Amino acid sequence: MNAILNQPFKNWGLQNTDRPLIIAGPCSAESEEQVMDTAQQLKAMNIEIYRAGIWKPRTRPNSFEGVGSIGLEWLRKVQKEVGMKVSTEVANVKHVYEALRFGVDIIWIGARTSANPFAMQEIADALKGVDIPVFVKNPVNPDVELWIGAIERIQGAGITRVGAIHRGFSSFDKTRYRNVPQWQLPIELRRKMPNIPMLCDPSHIGGRRDILQEISQKAMDLNYDGLIIETHCNPDKAWSDAAQQITPTELGKLLGKLVLRSLNSDNQEFIHNLEDLRHQIDKYDDELLNIIEERMKVAEKIGMYKKKNNITILQPDRWNEILEKVLDKGKKYDLSDEFLANIFKAIHQESINKQTHIMNE
Ligand code: PEP
Ligand code: MN
Repeated sequence: MNAILNQPFKNWGLQNTDRPLIIAGPCSAESEEQVMDTAQQLKAMNIEIYRAGIWKPRTRPNSFEGVGSIGLEWLRKVQKEVGMKVSTEVANVKHVYEALRFGVDIIWIGARTSANPFAMQEIADALKGVDIPVFVKNPVNPDVELWIGAIERIQGAGITRVGAIHRGFSSFDKTRYRNVPQWQLPIELRRKMPNIPMLCDPSHIGGRRDILQEISQKAMDLNYDGLIIETHCNPDKAWSDAAQQITPTELGKLLGKLVLRSLNSDNQEFIHNLEDLRHQIDKYDDELLNIIEERMKVAEKIGMYKKKNNITILQPDRWNEILEKVLDKGKKYDLSDEFLANIFKAIHQESINKQTHIMNE
C-alpha cells in the first residue's frame, strides 16, 4: 500500500493524513480487556484512530445494546495508555454530552439516526460551539438529499471538520451484501459536496469477512479518502456483528493488499494516451446518440401508423421478441444480460413515451 498525500484531513489534527485514512476497532466496546487488547494491536500497526460503539442501535429489543458510559472510561484509557484518538457513535443529545464529557476525539452519527431530521437537528444543536470532527453515515434508505441534509445540519452548528461514511443501504431483497452499496449515491454526494471527505465502511456494507477486501478496493478505486473497518481481538466471540469483524492481523493483510491509484498523473505520455482514448469514447458517444435518435424517429413513425389504425402502443409480444433477440445476440458480445436488458428497457420506455405523445396530439 503506497500512501498518497491526502488533503481533506489536513486540518483534522491528525499525525498521519495519508490516504487512506483508517479508523479501526470493534463494533462494540465489550470489556476493558477487549477494548485495550484490540487497541494495542492496532496501535502497533500504526493505526491512529480507534472506533468502538458504546450505545448500539439494534433492530430488535433484547439484543446487546452497548455497555454505556463505562465504555467511555475504557476509551479514555486507550487515549492515555495506548496513545490513539478515539471515536464513537452518538444517536441522541445524551450521547453527545457523555462523549464530550469523556473527551472522545471524533464522533459519528449512525445510519438510523442520519435518516431522522429531528434527531439530527437535536444532535447538531448540542454540538454548537464544540470543535469536534463529525462523520455522518448515509441514512439507511437510499436518499442522497436526506444524507446531505444531515451533513448540512452538522455544518449549520458551526462544525468545520465534517466527513461522510458510506455504509450501504437497506433493501428488502436478499443480496450478497448486508447493505447494498449503491455506489452511485455516494458518488452523487461527492459531486454535490466535493469538500466533504468520504470514508467507506466495508464492514456494514458486506456483513461478512470474505468480501471486505473487494469492497475496500472498490472504494479506493472510486477515490474514497479512507476506510472504517470493524476490527476485534476475537471476532468470532464478538457480542455484535461477529460475522463481519476481522482481527487486527487480518486488517493488516487487507490494507497491505490494497492497490492505491491516484486521481491524476503528471506523466505526459499517460496524459496524452488517455486523451486519445477519451476522444475515441466521445466519438462513440456521439454515434450512439445519433443512432438512438434515428431509432426514435422510426418509433415515432410507428406511433403515427398505430394511431391511424387504432392500435395500442404497447405490443407485449413484440417487446418480448426484441428483448429476447437482444439478449441472444448479446451472447456474442462481452455484455451482461443485466446491462443489455437495462439499456433496452430504457430505450423501449422512451419509445413508448414518444408514441404516447403522438397518440394524444
Ligand atoms: C456501527 O458502526 O457499528 C453501526 C451501528 O453502523 P450503522 O449505523 O452503519 O449501522
Ligand atoms: Mn457494527
